[in-house]
Amino acid sequence: MQKKIFLVIGSPGSGKTSVCNTLEIPKLLHFSIGEMYRNIAEKNTRLGAIIKHKIVIGQIVPIDIAKEVISHFLKSNCDIIIIDGFPRDMKQAKMFSNLIEKSNCVLSILIEILVDETKAFERISSRNRGIDDRKELFKDRLVLFKKERNEIIDYYIKQNKYISINGNLDFEIVTSNLKKIILSK
Ligand code: AMP
Repeated sequence: MQKKIFLVIGSPGSGKTSVCNTLEIPKLLHFSIGEMYRNIAEKNTRLGAIIKHKIVIGQIVPIDIAKEVISHFLKSNCDIIIIDGFPRDMKQAKMFSNLIEKSNCVLSILIEILVDETKAFERISSRNRGIDDRKELFKDRLVLFKKERNEIIDYYIKQNKYISINGNLDFEIVTSNLKKIILSK
């Protein structure tokens, strides 16, 4: 049986990782690229330092690491894989299309969590997740997200693999709506 892959994207403060973390679906693997990078950034290694620098200045991390990790996860023993925070640009989107072609997986859909900028800013301001939660960084991260977003969305719309959900609603409702989409595919 082919594994189903769901990509979840959203602006900084959209709540994508928190929502995905609370989905209770059997045989599901959730993997947050941002969380992975934050963990590596905390390590006192050369790679950690490179990644930390990118996160602290609000830029994306070079593609190679994500490629290796994603290839690894595509081989895991589960029915559903959710990757959140990916793709961040067209290079990653195309890299992913190539990877999936050679795997025993199928892309079900890319889900975008849409959230108003003011709401996203409120969330970023109220949490304390670490190195990339500085308020001053929010605007830069948002600009970068918007710059790449439209092209990514078009790419998946053309494949009939795009859907959005309203991320301004209560956390439980967003989680439940996301879960419904996943279980309906
Ligand atoms: P996030 O938690 O998704 O907002 O990601 C936090 C930070 O991790 C981003 O600002 C980037 O520096 C890095 N990051 C997350 N996802 C990716 C990705 N797909 N490619 C490159 N860098 C990423």
